[in-house]
This record gives sequence, structure tokens and C-alpha cells, in this order.
Amino acid sequence: MLRSEIRNWLPEKDPQKLSWLWQHANQLRRETVGGKIHLRALLEFSNCCRRDCAYCGLRAANRKVTRYRMSAEKILTLAEQAARRGFGTVVLQSGEDPKLDPDWLAELIRKIKSRTALAVTLSVGERAPAELALWRQAGADRYLLRFESANPDLFRRHHPARPGHSCDRLALLGILRDLGYEIGSGMLIGLPGQTMEDLVADLYLLGKLDLDMIGLGPFIPHPDTPLGRQAGSSSSEQVPANEDMTYRAIALARLICPRANIPATTALTTLSPQHGLELGLGRGANVFMPSITPAAYRDRYQIYPGRAQLCGSDNESFRRIAYRIRAMGREIGQGRGDAINYLARKKRKSGGLS
Ligand code: SAH
Ligand code: SF4
Repeated sequence: MLRSEIRNWLPEKDPQKLSWLWQHANQLRRETVGGKIHLRALLEFSNCCRRDCAYCGLRAANRKVTRYRMSAEKILTLAEQAARRGFGTVVLQSGEDPKLDPDWLAELIRKIKSRTALAVTLSVGERAPAELALWRQAGADRYLLRFESANPDLFRRHHPARPGHSCDRLALLGILRDLGYEIGSGMLIGLPGQTMEDLVADLYLLGKLDLDMIGLGPFIPHPDTPLGRQAGSSSSEQVPANEDMTYRAIALARLICPRANIPATTALTTLSPQHGLELGLGRGANVFMPSITPAAYRDRYQIYPGRAQLCGSDNESFRRIAYRIRAMGREIGQGRGDAINYLARKKRKSGGLS
């Protein structure tokens, strides 16, 4: 897709044209990744973080957060429960925890892989290449690391590097790909200072990175962060952090990366608890990642306020999600639900045809 085409879609107001965009994205999703919705069990195992991202409630400078780190036994029990409930993937997510012991995580991954058939996705921030290699060897399948914004100035301003360290998420994505991970990335929609041209660049970059998974969601202000306290820009070029812009981004992401797995994100369903799931999944998305983190911890994992009412941490909540998916005439995917894009890349690498 051309940059100019992306640029034209973003401010489109004509309901008929938008309806074409939704249908086209949905049709392409059906043809490329099929009708099944893959569910990922999101386990937020630590809220400790050494970073100071201006958008996130878990930032190190936020002293109001009561920090936690779950034990390996607890994580293992929850992963086994998730496998029994029918999930095919567990996503181990945390802040960029300075006390995360790489060997501890490697051992945990090995145990999850030996006791369940779950695919393991990691989302633990920017880590040393040797750690990423260690976890891959231990059996980790996928890694999520959003580039957040393709505009380097905006990224640096809101995501400051650690003193004495470089911060290059794009380089890390290359390393993750070379290690054989299924890789996911994406951006925030409506980050203060993000212009329409920036969002065009974000969407364009999704295609350039040849991603297997794409996570994009609206920026939701957190009152205990610099960006939560700042008044929003009224410039007409500022991307609105709303539902409508998120659907456009999801639909365009599907057109740009037809074979990727794309979730209706937690941020989207937080902004729109009534329709976010259905409209996201009906306009190009094919994945949902309900949190299975026990409520006592989940309440302290406030990346942004009001997070994850639609959770999967007990049988009843899981049934509610399954009901909503079936009511859309869609089925829940069984097994790992690897991205078609990843499977094709693996085949190419091993000499087969894609
Ligand atoms: N610490 C890891 C993973 C947890 S944060 C990391 O940073 O990669 C996961 C994602 O939450 C981030 O990539 C960011 O895009 C999103 N996020 C953070 N603050 C947010 C906010 N205020 N609104 C919406 N999404 C946010
Ligand atoms: Fe930490 Fe991730 Fe939040 Fe940044 S976005 S402060 S790295 S948890």
C-alpha cells in the first residue's frame, strides 16, 4: 500500500468509503488468516520497571505503584490452568524488571514447555541479546516489542533511554527475528504530539518490518504520568486517541500485513467495553489476549487506568468471552495459532516454497 493511500484513509469521513474499508479488511482477514479467533492468556507476572516511559503508569518514577513479582510456582500453576481452560498460548508480560533473573525465566519457560503444549510469548521489554538467545533456546516462541512510534524524536521524548544505554527497539526486533522468534510490534494511537504524518510512518513501518504480530491500541492517559497530566493538543494534525482512529489503524494494518496475527487490544476494549472486541475483530483483527492475572495483582498492573474488565482469569469470564466471539459467528482457534507470516518465513528459510 502506498504512503499516499494510507494518508488519504486516516482522515476519511465518508461513511460509505469507511464501510468499504471495514469490509475489505474483514474479507482479506478471512482469506489470509481465516475465521478463527486465537485467544492468548496474558499473564502479567511482574510490574517492576526500570524505565520511565512518559505514557505508562508502571514507570519507575511512579511511587504510588505497589510493586510485585510472582513466584515461578505461581506462574506455572496459572499457565497450567490456562492450558486446561483451552488457551494455546501464554504471554508472559512484565515491566522492564531490573531484578528479572535470565536463568530463572529460562527455567520457567522450560517447565511450561515440558508440562503443557502452550506456545510461550515474552513481552518483557528491552533485554540484552544474550538473554533473548537464552530464552529462545529454553523454548520461548514469540516476542512482543512495540516500536511505539516510528518518529525517532517522539519516541525518544516519551521513551527515554536508560542513562549510559542505547535504546533501539528496531535493532532488537532484527535480533529477535534472527534468533527465530515469531516477532510482534506496533504503536500507540494518539500519543500526544503524534501527527497524521507520524501515524502514516508507523503504519508504513509495520509493512517494512514484515511482522508476524501487530499490537496497536489507543493511548489512554494515566494521571500519575507526565503525559497524563499534560493537556491534550488541539492541533488538527494531532492523531486522536479514540476508537475510530484505532479501527482505521487495525484495518490498514491488515491491508499492509495480510498474513500477520492482529489482536483487538486490551486498550481498545478498555476504551470501548461494549463494542471494541466485536468491531476490532470485525475490521481486520483475529486475536484477543484476555488477562489471566489474578485480580489482586491485576489491580496493580495499571499501565493505564480501568484496564481489562474483559479478563479470562476464571471459567465464568472465559465463557463470557467465548459467548461474544460465537455470537459474531466466529470460532475460537485451537492450538498454538502461529502467524501464517511466520510459518511462511520458516518454510522459505528451510528452502521450501512459501
Ligand atoms: N514493559 C514491556 C511490556 C509491557 S508494556 C514493554 O514496554 O515493552 C506493554 C505496552 O503497553 C507498551 O508497549 C505500550 O505500547 C502500552 N502502553 C503503555 N502505556 C500505555 C497507555 N497509557 N495507554 C495505552 N497503552 C499503553
Ligand atoms: Fe516499563 Fe513497559 Fe511501562 Fe515503559 S511501557 S514504563 S518499559 S512497563
